Amino acid sequence: MTPNSLSNIPSVDQALRELGPSDVPRPAVVALVRRELAAIREARESMDHDSILARLRAALQQLRQSRIQPVINGTGILIHTNLGRSPLGPEVVETLSTIAANYNNLEYDLATGERGGRAAYLEHNLAVLCGAPAATVVNNCAAALLLILRHFTTTQRPEVVISRGELIQIGGGFRIPDVLEAGGATLREIGTTNKTSLDDYTAAICERTALVLKVHRSNFYMDGFVESPKTEHISELARRRGIPFVEDLGSGATMRTEEITGVEHEPTPADVLGQGVDLVCFSGDKLLGGPQAGIIAGSAPLVAALKKNPLFRALRCDKLILAGLQTTVDLHLNAGSDKADGEVAIIGMMRAPVDTLRQRATALAAQLAGLPLHATVGQADSQIGGGTLPRSAIPSVTLDLIPTGLSLDAFASKLRAGSPPVVAYISEGRLRIDLRTVFPRQDAELAIAIKAGAEERTT
Ligand SMILES: *Cc1c(COP(=O)(O)O)cnc(C)c1O
Repeated sequence: MTPNSLSNIPSVDQALRELGPSDVPRPAVVALVRRELAAIREARESMDHDSILARLRAALQQLRQSRIQPVINGTGILIHTNLGRSPLGPEVVETLSTIAANYNNLEYDLATGERGGRAAYLEHNLAVLCGAPAATVVNNCAAALLLILRHFTTTQRPEVVISRGELIQIGGGFRIPDVLEAGGATLREIGTTNKTSLDDYTAAICERTALVLKVHRSNFYMDGFVESPKTEHISELARRRGIPFVEDLGSGATMRTEEITGVEHEPTPADVLGQGVDLVCFSGDKLLGGPQAGIIAGSAPLVAALKKNPLFRALRCDKLILAGLQTTVDLHLNAGSDKADGEVAIIGMMRAPVDTLRQRATALAAQLAGLPLHATVGQADSQIGGGTLPRSAIPSVTLDLIPTGLSLDAFASKLRAGSPPVVAYISEGRLRIDLRTVFPRQDAELAIAIKAGAEERTT
């Protein structure tokens, strides 16, 4: 054996003893230690005992940190896909906990005592919210699109007509052309990136056409030499030729977004259905502010047919999702009425007045006095995020931190490693925490987390 010998490698038991107690279940720690020690043995590189232990600690810490846990979102991005998209408000959380802890009438008709339809109340109210004859729900918008494509395309009619200006990529490698292919459809691309005319649609529709698909450019915008036909005109054409016309709206705002400072108008499901689209699909956890879901709304016979497709069974939602969505939809329907007893969380965050945010930032900055950092109150723009409303920016207030003893990167990383983790961003030589995405109830925790990050000596 050489000096980089295996004799430095502790036994699993010895390593576990030296690591000490952990809040990760023991079998999981044992498996991790085994894996790391085996990798070290295999690499045959020189490592002393302390480095081995440090490597085990780092691996364990990485595993611990990957556990799903609450984080404080200081990024100012409201629908942050990496941070779980839309947070749910107290009314929705209450529903989730009571439904989760009890039996419920998921598929049971309380009037007859027999098997009943799944989520009939939700589907009814969702249809009302969308201004649609009917609506239903699957796992997410990608699943909704997949179901629609699988349902309407056949061997005889495999083609989906879509403008080249709408073959877009959403986040995380989700590309519309790939979904179309996965759905068994053949792409019939028409027009160019910036211009598609009604004639292009007219020329493309043939006996092989299964459906006409429009995809809302939810996460970018085009300006300049741009043209696409009005939805009304495409729907008239599709109707004349007897082809279903579907629009993937993606973000799915049901409220009037333009009433919020700094936010542009986002087409609602009711808008596009009113323009003659047969079916619309959108996400439940973007601007609707509910749990992850894919909503399909529109023509009653088409929605009924989709629900009978065998694939629907594989894509259907869990009872918790249905219950959470049900409360979210009711919050939307009650908004502005005397029955409004709460608000969809994401909408409340969009509307939070700048003055309130500034008061909170000032109070927080005052609490941080005496620490090895400069804390000031700054201004920034919050973004809606989640691939929605790319042009909108809501004026906001930040808590700006400049640590005196360590770099901004090191400070940011310490805050992320804290409990709860704080995700901030660096700009203009400061570490910034946008208070629009921090819940007021988190302010005390945030102050404690910042203190811990600033005071603790780096080891
Ligand atoms: C976000 C988005 C999707 C995907 O929605 P998920 O609910 O995440 O599956 C599909 N289409 C468009 C246009 C989107 O913006």
